Amino acid sequence: MERKRPMTRKESRDELNKFNLACELLKTIRHFFPDLVNQLHRITDERDQRYIRYELELILCVRILSVVFLLPSMRSISEEMNNDIIISNISKLLHRDDITELPHFDTINKCLIQIPPIELEAIICEIANRLIRSKTFLESRIRNRCWQIVIDGTRLYSFSEQHCIHCLFKEHKDRTGNVTSVEYYHYVLEAKLVLRENIVISIATEFVENNGTQQPGAGEKAKQDCELKSFYRMADKLKAAFPRLPVCLTMDSLYACEPVFQICGQNNWRYIIRFKDGSIKTVAEEFHVLKNLEAEQCLIEADDKSSRQYKFVLKMDYHGFMLNAAECIETKSDGEKRTFVFITDLSINQRNCAALVKAGRCRWRIERKRRV
Ligand SMILES: [Zn+2]
Repeated sequence: MERKRPMTRKESRDELNKFNLACELLKTIRHFFPDLVNQLHRITDERDQRYIRYELELILCVRILSVVFLLPSMRSISEEMNNDIIISNISKLLHRDDITELPHFDTINKCLIQIPPIELEAIICEIANRLIRSKTFLESRIRNRCWQIVIDGTRLYSFSEQHCIHCLFKEHKDRTGNVTSVEYYHYVLEAKLVLRENIVISIATEFVENNGTQQPGAGEKAKQDCELKSFYRMADKLKAAFPRLPVCLTMDSLYACEPVFQICGQNNWRYIIRFKDGSIKTVAEEFHVLKNLEAEQCLIEADDKSSRQYKFVLKMDYHGFMLNAAECIETKSDGEKRTFVFITDLSINQRNCAALVKAGRCRWRIERKRRV
């Protein structure tokens, strides 16, 4: 039998670093989420208990850690997590001493399919509530009061043929306008609680489904209808899970519409919504005229990398909703210009205008990071 060669110094240093990192992670999980294991234990397990080899909390724990470790695929769970350090830490986390092996990704997948999503969502909301109540992230609130929730859509899968009746689809056309191909896809809407600029947690998920309104030729508008409908469902869920939480929603220009203003008003939520000229034409026209009339509603900021010119307009009446709007024209040192306009029901003044625009742009920063 071949004898294992002794570790080099670098290898033993790397092992120690991994071990220290794992210990720190364990401490962090225990500190912030002391009840996590009990919460996982309470989830309904509908598997036939006579044939199970791994308990539900072990399977969920492995899946959660695989996300923490940013493992790229389910397959890599089996390959990269089955080592002594991880097994010993998971054992400590679960207060167990009989774990010798971690479940295969196939077993994890089969088990996850049978768990009611609503039970997992409830745990996420409990975790989010705990983080909100701890004082750690208080300074991230907008205006020292509102927790920022970013509403953000993500495409999950694409297909070249229709895969089910709920598929959304995008028609690709040639220069003459003839449809050359149709792409089918599934899309999910998420509400992400911003705890720090680089720490966001998804607290609600809603599938955007084609319920028959998106027919061939209906275009982008029909897809947006489907997305808005899933937002209305999500708003009910969010209000039920966080009934008294002071909230400020950040959304893209699709949401600049009356039903969304109404929902925010009813739920006592503030909002910062990206605004494009096509969103609400009358408000856009009013904004572009008024923004140049008040010199004291204009300011300029500059640093080494760019300069930003801000203009804002207050109290534009749209069907009884009083909308404030802020524009930021950013000019980079290489001359590249970008314009952002946001509408909001938060007050705007010289002191808070730049912070408001920064909060509104948060959504795009999250998106950019995900693409990297
Ligand atoms: Zn489908």
